[in-house]
Amino acid sequence: MSFVNCKECGEEYSMKRAKLGYHLCLECGDQRANRIANFRSKCSAPAYNKGAYQPMMSTDDARWAGK
Ligand SMILES: [Zn+2]
Repeated sequence: MSFVNCKECGEEYSMKRAKLGYHLCLECGDQRANRIANFRSKCSAPAYNKGAYQPMMSTDDARWAGK
C-alpha cells in the first residue's frame, strides 16, 4: 500500500485517493470543500455583482471624465 503526502498539511493519505484526483488528505479535502461552499454562499452575489459592474462603471467614469 503506498501513500502520498497531503499538499496542505503534509499528512500521508492513500494513493488510491490521489489517483481519484484528490491532492489533499481526507481532512483537508473536507475543509476545502466546506470553505468553498461557505465562500460561495456568503460571497457569490456581491462578488459577482461587483465583477460584472466594474467594467460598466469604468466606462461610465470615462464618459463622465470626458464631459
Ligand atoms: Zn491534509
